[in-house]
Amino acid sequence: MTRPQRAGRVVTAQTVRVGDTVHVRGAYRTVRNLRALAGGDRLLVFDGGITYRLLSWVPLNAARPQPEPVTAPVRGWCVEPDTRPDAEPVTHAMQCTTCAKASAGFEDPEGARRWAGEHTGRLPTHRSYRQLTRRPWHTTPAPQETHHGPR
Ligand SMILES: [Zn+2]
Repeated sequence: MTRPQRAGRVVTAQTVRVGDTVHVRGAYRTVRNLRALAGGDRLLVFDGGITYRLLSWVPLNAARPQPEPVTAPVRGWCVEPDTRPDAEPVTHAMQCTTCAKASAGFEDPEGARRWAGEHTGRLPTHRSYRQLTRRPWHTTPAPQETHHGPR
């Protein structure tokens, strides 16, 4: 069973493809190779032998060569994840659902994962977390229609 694939600007370990340009380690890089890892993770390989372990539960900003709007404009504005080079980074935090304490935001989700393990290590009855992802978005004027007649 396949779902229709749209040219989104966010990819995951399940949807990333060779040729995607993704934002990792502070820069946009083009995926040259992919390797499956345990737990549904993917090892992304970039030029120069740079690698990045994409955890199975982490969405990644991607700039595809032919991006299309992923959603309909709202009142004449496209509202989309901000993938420009100067956008704020996507960060991941964990929040304990028992005591509501939350970690700092990490660009590398491993930092949030490690915080949760350490939190449960200190407070063994605190075992449920919610992932808090901060993702920059921006708005751009939607393409104008070619006719200008009154409606
Ligand atoms: Zn807690």
